[in-house]
Amino acid sequence: SLSGQTALVTGANRGIGAEIAARLVDLGATVYAGARDPETVTATHQEPVELDVTDMSQVAAAMERLRAESGRLDVLVNNAGVYGPQGQYGDVDTAAIDRTLRTNLLGPMLVTRYALPLLVSDDRSGARVVNVSSGSGQFADGIDDSHLPYGVSKAGLNAFTQGLARQYPSLYVNAACPGWVRTDMGGEHAPRSVAEGAKTPVFLARLRDGPSGRLWRDEELEPW
Ligand code: NDP
Repeated sequence: SLSGQTALVTGANRGIGAEIAARLVDLGATVYAGARDPETVTATHQEPVELDVTDMSQVAAAMERLRAESGRLDVLVNNAGVYGPQGQYGDVDTAAIDRTLRTNLLGPMLVTRYALPLLVSDDRSGARVVNVSSGSGQFADGIDDSHLPYGVSKAGLNAFTQGLARQYPSLYVNAACPGWVRTDMGGEHAPRSVAEGAKTPVFLARLRDGPSGRLWRDEELEPW
């Protein structure tokens, strides 16, 4: 159970993030549901919090609110993401490159940076950071080049996951690939439901014994 624990999920108003937030509520956590427009958080028993992960002042304000209201953060799920442009790199829209990297890589790095004082404290260890990544970020066997900015953003997120875990051994920092999931991003032909997609992130949000700084899919370790 996550009773007595506090969680923050970014991009919690729809898709995989909404499902993760709902499952963390079921487990008893106090859940802050980050959303660009907090009015789109319709789930009950969640605290909507205005949080555009690319907006440094909103990130700072959200963490200040958590500090004041809860004083701690046990689970941070960096879920918010955008798919980004597809096609030949020389043809892609430069604003879309900027948006993809800001949302998928800079966003989680900023949110985590501001969250760290709440995640790490002297009297407690074992807080979890879950970065919702993608198989598109795996490049040991060759990166998927059909949507290069997205793949690079997730490869960067994976590298951040490993580096943060090394610096903060008292935390569990892991990346999760949800698989191909039926959401606005994944489209209607994706084989997985949001419930299936949320499974590994929720598993990692509960992990209190096991590896840190790794990539997971279907609750199993994956190579980078
Ligand atoms: P959706 O497009 O359904 O939802 C994306 C969520 O991210 C929305 O809540 C959206 O909010 C939010 N978001 C986008 N930009 C920002 C921002 N700047 N600040 C805060 N929130 C933002 O996507 P999914 O649920 O499918 O994806 C969730 C995560 O899973 C992403 O990181 C994605 O890369 C990853 N993933 C998804 C896969 C899939 O098949 N669906 C496969 C592999 C990985 P708003 O409503 O305001 O736009």
